[in-house]
Amino acid sequence: MSVVGFDFGNESCIVAVARQRGIDVVLNDESKRETPALVCFGDKQRFIGTAGAATSMMNPKNTISQIKRLIGRQFSDPELQRDLKSFPFAVTEGPDGFPLIHARYLGETRTFTPTQVMGMVLSNLKGIAEKNLNAAVVDCCIGIPVYFTDLQRRAVMDAAQIAGLHPLHLIHETTATALAYGIYKTDLPESDQLNVAFVDIGHSSMQVCIAGFKKGQLKILGHSFDRSLGGRDFDEVLFHHFAEKFKVEYKIDVYQNARACLRLRSGCEKLKKMLSANPEAPLNIECLMEEKDVRGFIKRDEFEQISIPILERVKRPLEKALAETGLSVEDVHMVEVVGSASRVPAVMKILTEFFGKEPRRTMNASECVARGCALQCAILSPTFKVREFQVNENFPFSIALSWKGTAPDAKNEATENQQSTIVFPKGNPIPSVKALTFYRSGTFTIDVQYADVSELQAPAKISTYTIGPFQSTKSERAKVKVKVRLNLHGIVSIESATLLEEEEIEVPVTKEPEKESAKMETDEASNDAVPPSSNETDENMQDAKGTAADPSGAENGVPESGDKPVQMETDTKVPKKKVKKTNIPVAELVYGAMVPTDLQKAVEKEFEMALQDRVMEETKDKKNAVEAYVYDMRNKLCDKYHSFVTDSEREQFTSRLQEVEDWLYEDGEDETKGVYIAKLEELKKQGDPIEERYKESTERGSVIDQLVYCI
Ligand code: ATP
Ligand code: MG
Repeated sequence: MSVVGFDFGNESCIVAVARQRGIDVVLNDESKRETPALVCFGDKQRFIGTAGAATSMMNPKNTISQIKRLIGRQFSDPELQRDLKSFPFAVTEGPDGFPLIHARYLGETRTFTPTQVMGMVLSNLKGIAEKNLNAAVVDCCIGIPVYFTDLQRRAVMDAAQIAGLHPLHLIHETTATALAYGIYKTDLPESDQLNVAFVDIGHSSMQVCIAGFKKGQLKILGHSFDRSLGGRDFDEVLFHHFAEKFKVEYKIDVYQNARACLRLRSGCEKLKKMLSANPEAPLNIECLMEEKDVRGFIKRDEFEQISIPILERVKRPLEKALAETGLSVEDVHMVEVVGSASRVPAVMKILTEFFGKEPRRTMNASECVARGCALQCAILSPTFKVREFQVNENFPFSIALSWKGTAPDAKNEATENQQSTIVFPKGNPIPSVKALTFYRSGTFTIDVQYADVSELQAPAKISTYTIGPFQSTKSERAKVKVKVRLNLHGIVSIESATLLEEEEIEVPVTKEPEKESAKMETDEASNDAVPPSSNETDENMQDAKGTAADPSGAENGVPESGDKPVQMETDTKVPKKKVKKTNIPVAELVYGAMVPTDLQKAVEKEFEMALQDRVMEETKDKKNAVEAYVYDMRNKLCDKYHSFVTDSEREQFTSRLQEVEDWLYEDGEDETKGVYIAKLEELKKQGDPIEERYKESTERGSVIDQLVYCI
């Protein structure tokens, strides 16, 4: 079983793997630890990750980046609309109201969903892990921002499936960091809690979490975030600053040219990084537009001045995190800063002022999320022994269920109205299961929704579940138990519905009930103990206590709560109340999620595209082999093989090699793999006998040498 962690960043991704001696960040094909999160579509193939970055400047309109911003969001989302203004590629609204990315691929314009594109990047990361581990990678943990909605979480799961991955856990990025921080600490207190604030400022967003550490465990006390505050915002400020300047100084409008925009943005990012280490920095870009070289310069003071609107927003998530946890600044014992955008000195100044202490950088700011993900995967994997360390996660949103029900109105008459209840309040542990009891005469629907949309850029409604059909044999309004699960990934779903019918049967009783069935009773009692009291509405909700309990099926026939097992000494038959449990079909409709048939199609499509990429890579290899043979043989004919060919043979072969070289740059530039293989074989037919003669002679020579030596 593979143990791999992926940090899928908005700008770059990191892959960490668990080995017996610890967690390693692995290198990609270019021996780099960070892999750009982008896909460049070409005429013949895709270039993903580092290969994509190499071609992005030549092909900006077909280079898809910042996929994390697009995934699982509606096209009309105001944040997405704002982002699109600076993206060099085209995005339109699909028929389902979700974004469709346009790119020229294999000679025609095609559309892709953000989930598909994320699948492509994940599949590239999977390949990096596989190459390093020399084994297939399927099981993994993937980091996600804490603010990801239900739909975004589902989209990541779909993207992973497209890539052939099976995430055991989508883990909040800041929680992964907290895990990577705590698990190696040997000095954690036994009883007093050590409170640490983790601040992650990445490419596009800022996340804060406060975690309480004790020996062997961490508890997330609260999360906060700003979904649109990251390093790219500083680049954007610089970009607009210089774009305006160049309009006046050089009479060029970079906004009109996608490539110039891309190059200026990239220049501004470099400039920003320089300003983190220097009080001033220059900007020089050759031939930016209309063949004009541009020059600029900015001091850190001025950069901070023009960045005030961004810097002013850094404090808010910090305040929210404290409010969320009910802690004061003094209660936060340490502050750990991660995410590469936190390197901006002005940001560090704000953090220091806010917490009244110097934030620390003991974590590897760019790798801690991936390391935490790999650690989490190792904890979940049976193949690794990891130090005992418990992670108590905390869900950032309140989730409610809503349904049509009857309740007494002012005149005490039953009327039908929409009712709702919060099943998972903000701060609920993850994972968690809750059960609700409904009294219904036939098929009914339940909506799952966010209880408070003020912090979200998402519609309130997440999904609708249709429960039924079912037929009650007894009363008109049957008792239906509905189980709702907040799973390890933070995705909510109604996982089952059970019809509960009391029936009286004769039970032969010969001896005391065994311990096992008594235990099941206890489980049952705690799951569904309180019967509705007369003045309550017809729906009741109780906690299902155990987080991962799965009491379905197994308890069939176990007495309902309140029924104490009957103890009899003699063999006799007694009438006994039993609860008959029947599973009711549950149909799920998640708004905006991929349906299984579409997901299957996307998996097949990815397979096709990956095959195309592989064929093209192999074609390139074969073409290079022909070219290499031409150069190598030409050199050898004048050197090593000189005395093994006649002059005319050499002349003829050299001119043949020249012909093939010319062909490679002209008619043969764009041939199929088979053609290159045939060409190489044809050349070898002529070259191999020469090579053979040379080898024979050197072998004979070495025998003679040895004889001479013996004499
Ligand atoms: P996210 O976490 O938002 O999904 P990410 O994980 O890809 O994105 P990081 O790699 O943590 O983001 O941070 C990338 C950002 O950090 C970029 O905007 C980059 O310009 C910025 N950055 C990197 N080095 C420095 C530096 N020395 N000074 C200032 N900013 C920097
Ligand atoms: Mg990040």
